[in-house]
Amino acid sequence: MSTKIKRFILPENEIPTAWYNIVADMKNKPLPMLNPTTKQPLKVEELYPLFAEELAGQELNQTDRYIEIPEEVRDMYKYYRSTPLVRAYGLEKALDTPAHIYFKNESVSPVGSHKLNSALAQAYYCKKEGTTNITTETGAGQWGAALSYAAKVFGLELAVYMVKISYEQKPYRRSIMQTFGAQVIASPSMSTHAGRKILTEHPNYQGSLGTAISEAVELAMQTPDCKYTLGSVLNHVFLHQTVIGLEAEKQMEMAGEYPDMVIACFGGGSNFSGLSFPFLRHKLTEGKNVRIIAAEPSSCPKLTRGIFEYDFGDEAGYTPLIPMFTLGHTFSPAHIHAGGLRYHGAGTIVSQLMKDNLMEAVDINQLDSFNAGILFAQTEGIIPAPESCHAIAATINEALKAKEEGTQKTILFNLSGHGLIDMTAYDAFLAGDLSNYELSNEEIAKTVNSLEKIMQ
Ligand SMILES: *Cc1c(COP(=O)(O)O)cnc(C)c1O
Repeated sequence: MSTKIKRFILPENEIPTAWYNIVADMKNKPLPMLNPTTKQPLKVEELYPLFAEELAGQELNQTDRYIEIPEEVRDMYKYYRSTPLVRAYGLEKALDTPAHIYFKNESVSPVGSHKLNSALAQAYYCKKEGTTNITTETGAGQWGAALSYAAKVFGLELAVYMVKISYEQKPYRRSIMQTFGAQVIASPSMSTHAGRKILTEHPNYQGSLGTAISEAVELAMQTPDCKYTLGSVLNHVFLHQTVIGLEAEKQMEMAGEYPDMVIACFGGGSNFSGLSFPFLRHKLTEGKNVRIIAAEPSSCPKLTRGIFEYDFGDEAGYTPLIPMFTLGHTFSPAHIHAGGLRYHGAGTIVSQLMKDNLMEAVDINQLDSFNAGILFAQTEGIIPAPESCHAIAATINEALKAKEEGTQKTILFNLSGHGLIDMTAYDAFLAGDLSNYELSNEEIAKTVNSLEKIMQ
């Protein structure tokens, strides 16, 4: 085969027909989520007021390895899937590395990121069960944009609570959501108890994902025929995203290679899980030797510096208690431009995998991430999302290590999205206005120590 094939695409009939549920293959299952009042393991019915029943079922499913993708969702996937697997010859050449670098290009989805893979699924199940309205929160706006489109496709009304600082600094993502027909509210807002409480205490609060989640959950709980949706962290979101890795698995076969390393950036873990779980399955079931690496920002390092404890998914403490690596639900990351990586916790599945040493995590500082993104843009012609830049930086580090050691490694990373709507972040970097933020142990201790210790 020519070594110069650059893009690998699957024919339509090879797009996966089922998602992969890694929990079925995990020897140590994730610990159960707890009801915050009784501290008893959460029952599936307790999730019904919040989520579509089918999604609640997927959330707690520990037995089915594969879950069929509904035909209506698969039909929508066909608009942009398979996404290309691309050999990054340009980047390899610039690094002068013997490593073979591949990336899975999720930036080609209509909304520019992997988020649509789960948005379509969630909107579909809500509609199927008779829901008319859905709510969600969004930080950088990628999830909100994806869900706005998905809501329109399946005929749902959507209210998005958008972190206030992003609402003001990222007007284009707000316009995108509004173009798709969603209602966008800056959070904290006066429309919920959670929002009013925070605004009373801190009138100038710029918002956080945690607060926005509290507001969206509250609205869903109080409105009939209204469900809440979340774009990351939860098991069912990871499940939907495995379509990425299942495709990549076949595409790597087309390329005649198997990755030594699979790398993705890490916010709440959805694009990381989506690409890596199908490869991790070879490690779990066949003992295959593949390194799985999460790249998180130094300024929000839950996997590398957080603790493993029960914590809330939101700031106000409305969600179930989730067993996970966390910096504490009141942790508010310093201003970083990778808005999608600001979440405080890592979710149950990834946290268990981390605990069992089945994966690794590295932290990447802000300047290294942008330098990596710019090299990638100049060599591959795609401007990566600031989040994705973290995966690229981790990939470059490994490719340079391979060069030093003189070993040929095959690296696969996820290009989770493009950065064309994040040019203000690039502008700030190019103007020299960005810096690294070194988070002190004291700062982490503050929010971590305030957690109730539930694990013995
Ligand atoms: C939301 C987002 C992320 C971070 O979320 P994960 O759930 O960790 O994947 C990363 N990249 C892009 C482009 C995003 O939109």
